[in-house]
This record gives sequence, structure tokens and C-alpha cells, in this order.
Amino acid sequence: MKTALICGISGQDGAYLAQLLLEKGYTVCGTSRDAQMSSFSSLKRLGIYNQVKLESMALTDFRSVLQVLTKVDPDEIYNLAGQSSVGLSFELPVETLESIATGTLNLLEAIRFLAKPIKLYNAGSSECFGNTNGEPADEQTPFRPRSPYGVAKATAFWEVANYREAYGIFAASGILFNHESPLRPQRFVTQKIIATAQRIAAGSREILRLGNTAIQRDWGWAPEYVEAMYLMLQQPQPDDYVIATGQAFALQDFVAQAFASLDLDWQAHVVIDQSLYRPTEIAHSQGNPAKAKRQLGWKAQFAMPDVVRHMVAAGNKDAGATDSFKFS
Ligand code: NDP
Repeated sequence: MKTALICGISGQDGAYLAQLLLEKGYTVCGTSRDAQMSSFSSLKRLGIYNQVKLESMALTDFRSVLQVLTKVDPDEIYNLAGQSSVGLSFELPVETLESIATGTLNLLEAIRFLAKPIKLYNAGSSECFGNTNGEPADEQTPFRPRSPYGVAKATAFWEVANYREAYGIFAASGILFNHESPLRPQRFVTQKIIATAQRIAAGSREILRLGNTAIQRDWGWAPEYVEAMYLMLQQPQPDDYVIATGQAFALQDFVAQAFASLDLDWQAHVVIDQSLYRPTEIAHSQGNPAKAKRQLGWKAQFAMPDVVRHMVAAGNKDAGATDSFKFS
């Protein structure tokens, strides 16, 4: 039986990955910055809170990382922890860089120090690419990040590539495009849209304020994306993979789809707020997941309209509707 350590298990991807690995028979340990204080609401929502072991770990503190790795003795580490909001990274640039870049480096150094065959998954991001200029990005596309978050993720990506080449560590980066689910917090725009539309459908008179709705993104379904993470660590050789649906939609299309699924006309409820624009924004972001299909046998089954449908169904279920939608 293998042991997996999921750093950032309280987050969206951490919870779905924990569910997947438990189904595969793994012993699953997870870390949070403060395991005594975190509510682990996503693990509870998936009904797996009592099936995982939880540890406190500060990724930016090498001693803390080394202590947890020594105690847990994992076969595989999935690093999903760190400041993950692009918007917030403009307000917290140092925290973002340290939690992602120093955090990844500490994990790599700890693996190197322990000299054990521990495999590492690094949560890379499509934000490394910046604008893909209407073309789907693949593993050969150069990085031109446009946010402190993207810069931090690009740094971590090259740390992983360097340690793989220099020390033969089995470390892989998944360059994941946006993926959503009912476990997304409301500070992310997709969940903000769904939750506001549902309150309006229930009678609220509020207005949904959004920034630039012309931006285009490649949105996928989070439970599928964690399968790609697992598959990357089961390959004979470590490598990097773009994980995406291959389809881009405007944010306005996402909004229209969400409101229409609740029988609402979005134009009556949405205003564009210039103060919500980012200092630098990515206009078009789209991935080419051909390598993942070829080498991992992974392909997204759901694109943006399905993602909206699933998120709305989950919200209706939370509100007491008798929808039989399951989270995976
Ligand atoms: P979440 O924000 O849901 O989870 C990240 C976890 O990291 C949190 O639960 C939190 O755990 C921990 N964390 C948050 N801030 C910090 C910080 N400043 N320092 C250290 N730890 C922190 O992210 P997702 O599950 O959505 O994403 C998982 C990973 O994948 C992240 O690295 C993200 O950047 C990356 N990614 C996500 C994409 C997406 O569309 N979801 C796309 C591409 C990449 P705790 O509070 O318990 O310590």
C-alpha cells in the first residue's frame, strides 16, 4: 500500500485528490499550515475527513518540511499548497512568491536530503504562459507570466525541471488550466458568479459586479484534473504536461450560461466595474492537452457548459433541491 502526502489538502484539488487516492487504496496524509485551526470543510463535504491523517506544515520553513516528510515517509508527494489566487497575488506578491517558489524548493531540497525515491507532483499553472494569443499553449510554448502568481509558478516550474536534471529526482509539473467545482471558494470569479446568480434566482435584488468579462479561459472540471496529477506520477519517467480541455470561452459566456440555467437574463443583473480590472490581465488562455492524451491517456470529458451545469446543480442541492448530482 502506497502513502501519499498532499500538501494543501484543505483546498479544492487537495480534497478531490485525497478522495481519488483513497479509492485507489492509498494511505493519505495531508498538510495544512495549521491543522488544528483549519475547518477542512471540503474533506467533510466529500465525507472523507475521518479517512485521512492530517499534519501541520509550513512549506516556507525547511525544518517543518523535513520533519513532516520524515514522519510520514511518503512514496508520493503532491504539492498543491500556496497562495493560489491570481488577483490576490497583486496585493500579496511576496507571500505568493515565497509560498510557491520557496515552498517548492524546500520540498525538493528535503527529498534530495532524505535520498529516498520519493516522487513529487508540482502544481504548475497556465498563468505561466500569459497571453496565448489565440493559439492553444503546449509544453513547448514559452512562459510570459503577467502576474506575481504567474511569476511564482514559473519559478517553481524551473526549480522542478532543474532538480530533475541535476539530481535525478522524480518530479513532474502539471501545467493546469483553470478547473472549477463546487469546492471553489467564492473569491474565485466562477463561484462568485454561480453563487450570486443562485441568490438572485432565490429572490435577492443584488447586482453582480465583475471586472473584464471579455477575457477568455479554458475551464475544466476539477475532479477530472486530479486524475491527471495521479497519472503523471505513475509514468516510467517524470515529465511535464499541459492539462486543459482545449476549448476557450469568454467570461461573458460563462456568466450568460450560469444565469440562463437559472432562467435569468444576465444583462439585467450584471454591471462591469472598472475597479475590479487587474493591473495586467491575460486576454486569452487556452491549452493543448495532446501530450497528456498521448502519454497519460487523459482527456477532459467536461468543458465550460458542463462545468456551469454541475456547479449550479451542486448549489441547488445545497439549497435543498432534490438534485441527485454527485460531486465526482
Ligand atoms: P486552493 O486555494 O483551494 O488550495 C490551496 C491550499 O494551499 C489552501 O487550502 C491552503 O491550505 C494553502 N495555502 C493557501 N495560501 C497559502 C499560503 N499563503 N501559504 C501556504 N499555503 C497556502 O487551491 P486549488 O486547490 O484550487 O489549487 C491547488 C494548486 O493548484 C494550487 O497550487 C494552485 O495554485 C494550483 N492551480 C490551480 C488551478 C485551478 O484552476 N484551481 C489552476 C492551476 C494551478 P491551508 O489554509 O490549510 O494551509
